[in-house]
Amino acid sequence: MALQHNGTASKLAKHNGETSDHHPSTNGKEEAEHEHADRFTFTSEPTLEDIRRMQAEFTDERNWNQFHQPRNLLLALVGEVGEVSELFQWRGEVAEGLPDWTEPEREHLAQELSDVLIYLVELAEKCHVDLPRAVLRKMALNRLKYPASKVHGSAKKYTEYKD
Ligand SMILES: [Mg+2]
Repeated sequence: MALQHNGTASKLAKHNGETSDHHPSTNGKEEAEHEHADRFTFTSEPTLEDIRRMQAEFTDERNWNQFHQPRNLLLALVGEVGEVSELFQWRGEVAEGLPDWTEPEREHLAQELSDVLIYLVELAEKCHVDLPRAVLRKMALNRLKYPASKVHGSAKKYTEYKD
């Protein structure tokens, strides 16, 4: 979802250790570029393949591979999603960038999201799904299913659109 021009992006950039010199523009294209310039970004490493390899080393060192079949990994993944859910439970809606969360709460969330990603990557490995390549294919399908020209600003499901 695109960031709104309500200061959220600037707050996010500052939280991410960056400065922001956002200037609203009347030009739609420039405005979109400003949005992208302010958007929170990840570091480039580790890659998904790096994460797969690190987790494979971790399980091999502990002789845990015997327990890490696809179904067990799926259940572990769902359990970790539950741990993420617990952190959001009973808070009501939470603003982007989690401005009201403490640093220990943010760190806890980072750990649980990492657990989710690690199990997701290992599940994909054990199912022989090349996840980065699969994501490219799925994004291409999503672009076909939701053409930007047709769905811009709408939250409807693809079945609700008429040609
Ligand atoms: Mg966990």
